[in-house]
Amino acid sequence: MSSFEKRVYRFGDGVADGDGSMPDLLGGKGAGLAEMTLLGVPVPPGFTITTKVCHHWLEHGANPTGLQLEIDTAVEWLESIVGRRLEDSANPLLVSVRSGAPISMPGMMDTILNVGLNDACVEGLAEKSGSRRFALDLYRRLIQMFGTIVLEVPKQEFDRALEAVKRAHRFANDSELSESPLEKTIEAFKQLVLTRTGKPFPQEPREQLEMAVTAVFSSWNNERARCYRKLNHIPETLGTAVTVQAMVFGNRGEDSGTGVGFTRNPSTGEKNIFGEFLPNAQGEDIVAGTRTPMPISKLAETMPHVYRELLAVTAMLENHYREMQDFEFTIESGKLFLLQTRTAKRAAPAVVRIAVEMASEGLISKTEAFNRVKPESIAEVLSSQLDTSSHPAILTQGLAASPGSVVGQIALSANQAVTMVARGEKVVLVTEETTADDIHGMAVAPGFLTARGGATSHAAVVARGMGKCCITGARDIELDEKADAVQIGGKLFHSGDWLSLEGSTGRVFEGKLPVRAADNDHPHLDALLAWAKNTGACLVRANADTPQDAAAARRMGAAGIGLCRTEHMFFAADRLGHMRSMILAKTKEERARALDRLLPIQQHDFEELFRTMSPLPVTIRLLDPPLHEFLPSIDEINGEITSARREENWELAIELEANRKQVETLRETNPMMGHRGCRLSLTCPEILEMQVRAILQAALVVSAEGLNPAPEIMVPLIASEEEMKVLAELIRKTAQQVFAAHGREIPYTIGAMIELPRAAICADRIARHVSFLSFGTNDLTQMTYGFSRDDARTYLDGYLQQGILKTDPFITIDREGVGYLVELAVNSVRAVSPKIKIGVCGEHGGDPESIHFFSSLGLDYVSCSPFRLPVAQLAAAQAHLSEARLPEEKTQPQMLLAREPNRNSQEELQLDTAA
Ligand code: PEP
Ligand code: MG
Repeated sequence: MSSFEKRVYRFGDGVADGDGSMPDLLGGKGAGLAEMTLLGVPVPPGFTITTKVCHHWLEHGANPTGLQLEIDTAVEWLESIVGRRLEDSANPLLVSVRSGAPISMPGMMDTILNVGLNDACVEGLAEKSGSRRFALDLYRRLIQMFGTIVLEVPKQEFDRALEAVKRAHRFANDSELSESPLEKTIEAFKQLVLTRTGKPFPQEPREQLEMAVTAVFSSWNNERARCYRKLNHIPETLGTAVTVQAMVFGNRGEDSGTGVGFTRNPSTGEKNIFGEFLPNAQGEDIVAGTRTPMPISKLAETMPHVYRELLAVTAMLENHYREMQDFEFTIESGKLFLLQTRTAKRAAPAVVRIAVEMASEGLISKTEAFNRVKPESIAEVLSSQLDTSSHPAILTQGLAASPGSVVGQIALSANQAVTMVARGEKVVLVTEETTADDIHGMAVAPGFLTARGGATSHAAVVARGMGKCCITGARDIELDEKADAVQIGGKLFHSGDWLSLEGSTGRVFEGKLPVRAADNDHPHLDALLAWAKNTGACLVRANADTPQDAAAARRMGAAGIGLCRTEHMFFAADRLGHMRSMILAKTKEERARALDRLLPIQQHDFEELFRTMSPLPVTIRLLDPPLHEFLPSIDEINGEITSARREENWELAIELEANRKQVETLRETNPMMGHRGCRLSLTCPEILEMQVRAILQAALVVSAEGLNPAPEIMVPLIASEEEMKVLAELIRKTAQQVFAAHGREIPYTIGAMIELPRAAICADRIARHVSFLSFGTNDLTQMTYGFSRDDARTYLDGYLQQGILKTDPFITIDREGVGYLVELAVNSVRAVSPKIKIGVCGEHGGDPESIHFFSSLGLDYVSCSPFRLPVAQLAAAQAHLSEARLPEEKTQPQMLLAREPNRNSQEELQLDTAA
């Protein structure tokens, strides 16, 4: 660093060389002290040595040349304004030497108090202060702190020596030590330093100061500071500043003391000063916890004038910084001094409440209020939390697939879960992975833990839809169903044993941990979300499969349903049989009969959905999964065949044999790339016809009730324009038949899901035949990467650990690849059909970072599970507001269109709307 650069910044007596805008150079503490001085807050004067000196020190192991002169000048200035001098044994200046990084690292680095005392000064101070006990107490504190931090004598040895003196005098507290025991303590401490370091305790105040400054710089690299930086992603290169400040004494008597506080309650956000105060004590006494501090509000009784001043000063600081503050203060003989102020850390409910209240108070704008709330804080406010204050051991950790916390008894299969719940037990369902067949167990279990699967695996999607806690892909899990047991993190558990799951972190604990229930009443969050809806951000719809999901979506302010996965309607006990008969039908007539039985059931479900959502749009996706998912497994059928034979029911056995053959035919090696999605509608159009009838008949019924249903029929897994053309025609033909039969029409639209890379590339052509497009980003990610949604966990974890992937692409959209395809499709479609509605209904629709990306592309809506709606609504508002502020940075279309624009789509857009 240049020798002309300023390296020491003074503050005090109403002037300061620096200010609050300089935390990078002066550290948060140094910048705060300079700013407070300029604001006229009572602050003990001092000076700050910059972080750049720390960089130099760390690099060269020595201070830059000329620094000592700057420090000496600053000390001289300090001496002149406080009227005491270092080394003046009759009237000594004592200073604190304090660390302070640009980003707060509470308690991680070192601070030394009372620097400047020695054998001679202690007597001078005794005389000047009129209390020898006070002076001796400061001296023993200095030797103890300096000895530990600078001279690196183990702390326990000082503690032991002090304990011995206290024991000999039968004292319980340090504060009871009178003169003679203090003298003995000082002697013992000095002896300890001599034996441990081979040198006497340094008697030169300037040498003490120099050594203390160096020790604080090197505390940047102590183990706990390094660990904290790693955990909190704080760059190693920042370094710490050192602040040297005239001591004020909280241990000066009963009208003195020290405290820490917050301008608002850090747990609830309530606007009330909150904190602790310890009379007749120095800062480290609060940290040591040897005495119990009193609530700060008690000061109103014991020192009312100081309390009033504290309220006024801290309120002024909050107004000045326009942020909740966390502050440290000392009262010396009835006079208040602020030692530090900084932005306070706070719990999630407080984050939301403070942002909303500060905006209502006019302290910050609504835009700032939005930006101060991280979407994760909302998820935390809305879900129950495990109490892990006892620091329980973590059994295993999986993917945090759906938040909330559950404490329950292990059930190792869906059937077992149902039986246990019927007995009144609370269960957690622990499985390899769930499938659609497990839905009955998932319906009754409040939490799921799976050994396999990722963020879009079946268990994860279903859990989020149901608002239940779910951890997937926890690989330290080995199931042994025969033994009715499971190994978790190397420990054996049986069904019925207790586990505690923390869905927001993916952590699994043994036994029953206490749970803090989510608060159902959150007026501040409601207010924030109400503002969010008025920002003009992209709409947020919900993915909902049942009337119950739809009701939850409506309650949470969804702008419609963006995805109803109709297959989930077929798994309930009263439908699965008909579904199986339909699939296994040997003749057209047999299939038609089964479909006739399914139609009214589906229609009833749709009626309920439309009633709940009217007049908001409801996107209903036609059947998507491969048919074998609805069928029993070969093992199951074999079991039934054996029983039928045993009972000599030959007719049934023959039928089952035929079924087995058909199940075998329907089995696919790679069903995710197989006979599913629109392919089912093309090979089995009767299913599409039944579903379209059910949808439109339901809409007619509900419209006759005076409501305004808005059905949107969506076709999954489209790959080509030709597929879409044929299916759109079939849907329209079926619609005409329904309308003709009822003598009435109803508006509806047809849309395509863009879930395949080919579909994204050909989106403009597909769009010719529909009036909306919805990106199924789960499949689009799967198909673009070639990562299987359900089995990729094992190698994805490795990719994430090695940094090959920065984030899980099934959680946050991969902008570079999958995102590129989305952008390509949006640009090509918008070039020819600027008004076509485009949304996202994959799980990324609930992920804040992905929402920012979709918003930048100008999508009309995102759709996510109902319980993620608030998070998505906030993220959408934040994205929109940041784009509005930075129009020049808004994502520009990056690529040229490869094809001639499609000029027909505008006209065709009207075709599927009958009314
Ligand atoms: C998708 O693929 O993104 C989607 C919404 O469909 P599903 O998850 O049901 O395959
Ligand atoms: Mg899909």
